[in-house]
Amino acid sequence: MVDAIVIEKGESGQSISQSQVTFEPLAEGEVAVDVAYSTLNYKDALAITGSSPVVRSFPMVPGIDFAGIITESRHADYTVGDRVVLNGWGVGEKHWGGLAKRAQVNGDWLVPLPDGVSMRQAMAIGTAGYTAMLCVIALEDQGITPDKGEVVVSGATGGVGSVATTLLAAKGYNVVAVTGRMSEAGYLKDLGATSVIDREEVSGKPRALNKERWAGAVDVVGGQVLANILSMIQYNGAVAACGLAGSMDLPTTVAPFILRGVTLKGVDSVMVPKAKRQVAWQRLATDLDQKKLEAMITEVALEDVIKTAPMFLEGKVKGRIVVPVS
Ligand code: NDP
Repeated sequence: MVDAIVIEKGESGQSISQSQVTFEPLAEGEVAVDVAYSTLNYKDALAITGSSPVVRSFPMVPGIDFAGIITESRHADYTVGDRVVLNGWGVGEKHWGGLAKRAQVNGDWLVPLPDGVSMRQAMAIGTAGYTAMLCVIALEDQGITPDKGEVVVSGATGGVGSVATTLLAAKGYNVVAVTGRMSEAGYLKDLGATSVIDREEVSGKPRALNKERWAGAVDVVGGQVLANILSMIQYNGAVAACGLAGSMDLPTTVAPFILRGVTLKGVDSVMVPKAKRQVAWQRLATDLDQKKLEAMITEVALEDVIKTAPMFLEGKVKGRIVVPVS
């Protein structure tokens, strides 16, 4: 029996508790992991609160990522004692996830933890930080180098936003952090933002085009914020869009694309092939300032996960929530 957060669904709807689960013996290709740390991400909050249909089968152990040590292996690439990290692949949605003392998954989904990254740091990064890295790579792939102009990051005090701000600043970009919490301007400047602007500035009814302000953007908010950002991207600029913290809608026009050559690059973290994941994790190991990462961490015990999750939906989370599991 293993201690876990468990989501169940009955006739009266979804319920969640901390309880005990048991696992089947390992199938060919699977590994068992002693989970050292997990985290809370926005998607975990949607799953735990049941406010969006993230969970596809019940009972479900939530937790879209974890870091831990292999305790059993039926996969050729892994042996007992290996340190691994997992993000996505439907774990915590379709397959039991990281908010449990044991995880049992397809070994193909794992990434060996790079040297120099502790399991706690891996989960301080978590899916949010790894997605931020994918967004930075997406901007680089579009030729958005620091000399092209400022880069704007929305939802900057959240998980993706905090890591994106830090990574971009470390690479020499001038980062404009957009936040609904101007009281956190000091936190964002400490992460490396060169300026901080109030979300209100990019929240109004979007125009098709606005004055060109930014070479690139990482957007986690969607909706009118993304539409406003698109209208202010410079000629041949690019936006890496990964989130919907504000809205699933996108009330824009084709104007930024056909008149300014702007690229809107969608970023998914869940189904990324292993080779690209490994590149992202290696970059995180070398490019992310560990002191700044430490400043993002709030630790929440497994037993406090259920009451903490709603904070994401209230826009109250700052940085990253790390859950020590065993
Ligand atoms: P967080 O909750 O940590 O951060 C989101 C931030 O967005 C908040 O801190 C807040 O920042 C801002 N925000 C919150 N609510 C609103 C609102 N109603 N309107 C405008 N801004 C708002 O979440 P994460 O950083 O973990 O995730 C951010 C988004 O990215 C989520 O939508 C998540 O689902 C998505 N995501 C997608 C992934 C993918 O694979 N595509 C992977 C990981 C995340 P502030 O107060 O500074 O404005």
